[in-house]
Amino acid sequence: MAQIRTIPQSAQPKKGCGPLIDPLSDPSRPLRQQIFERVRAVGQIARVQLSKELGISPASVTTITSELIETGILEEVQTLRDAESSRGRPAVALGVRSGTRHVVGIKLSDREHTAVLVDFAGNLIAGEAIERTPDAMELDALLNAAAELLSRVCAKGGVEPHTISALGLGVPGFVDSEKGIVHWSPVLTERHIDLAAALRARLAVPVVVDNDANLVTLAELWFGAGRALSDFAVVTIEHGVGMGYVINHRIYRGARGMGMELGHTKVQLDGALCRCGQRGCLEAYVADYALVREARTALNLTHKETQSVATLLESLYAHAKGGNSAARSIFRRAGRYLALGLSNVVNLFDPQLIILSGERMRYDYLYAKETMAEMQELSLDTGRDIPNIEIHAWGDLLWAHGAAALALHDVTERLLGSSREMAAQ
Ligand SMILES: [Zn+2]
Repeated sequence: MAQIRTIPQSAQPKKGCGPLIDPLSDPSRPLRQQIFERVRAVGQIARVQLSKELGISPASVTTITSELIETGILEEVQTLRDAESSRGRPAVALGVRSGTRHVVGIKLSDREHTAVLVDFAGNLIAGEAIERTPDAMELDALLNAAAELLSRVCAKGGVEPHTISALGLGVPGFVDSEKGIVHWSPVLTERHIDLAAALRARLAVPVVVDNDANLVTLAELWFGAGRALSDFAVVTIEHGVGMGYVINHRIYRGARGMGMELGHTKVQLDGALCRCGQRGCLEAYVADYALVREARTALNLTHKETQSVATLLESLYAHAKGGNSAARSIFRRAGRYLALGLSNVVNLFDPQLIILSGERMRYDYLYAKETMAEMQELSLDTGRDIPNIEIHAWGDLLWAHGAAALALHDVTERLLGSSREMAAQ
């Protein structure tokens, strides 16, 4: 039986941030990048320890860390040795020089825009949220919204907007992160827009974009339960059903740079109509608009009562909790389809962990014991337990944290990655 744990999330890292990559598992990164990322991931570490963990000679560690200190990326920090040797002099460790570089992460959605400002060590400096009416925006309005959020969150954190090292931006929809193109998004009226370039031109800072399911996955990889895992899945259930997948500590983006569209995998031939225009998609049975469609009929609500999706879902949930069998069966049916979708993920990818994330996760019928038992039944019987499932109900700034991780990764690659050498050639 899968174990289900509900974990209250704090978006703030307790110690360090970023993927805790097994030191010897990815030797293709330049040494300076491996050293820096190890320091950032563990928070503080002594040179001798770095040398041991990364399998690099102490002399190389000394040379490379001196360079990183000189360029203002790392700094020496005094730490107390452990209790028994506290009589001795304090030890010197290395830490990220956090205050010299900042990044901003922004998530635009149809209900609320959010932003965070974090330093180069991943510490949260300031956060901002703006409510909005759910309409698709024209490109210019979207650029204005991003500019407004950037200036507000920077003002809160006491940082000049033009000095930030990168801006990560997330929107729902079909996004080619590598090229910076938004093919379709419910927050944008136009299609196939080079949003990264448009925003870069507008704000004069480096910009990276991604879809919202990948942002949640990055937030888990950098700040959450996925930091020490090499392979895991994040499934988001909101307006749609999204998925992000991490393979060997890196987010998987597919050959054409798109996210993984779990919501549009088919679970029924000629089934319910999906908002993508096709039939039988998982999303058409599990997403909020699917629940709303059924709730309207089952609860016999007039049009006036059904204006707000959130209100209607709350009402459906209250009815289910109160024992209304029609309301219960709507959630149970959605739960069974979710089980089907998750078992397909297990059979395809064999992840260590599946994290279910999103606002709908408050509706515990979706992942009730019956749902998990169904998922077990549908997963290939290999004699082993199916992966653990964790339910994460994060706060509002989750997506923005994921966007900040996207920006931190971008800055790190530009400063220390192998692309730096290629660019110099
Ligand atoms: Zn679809």
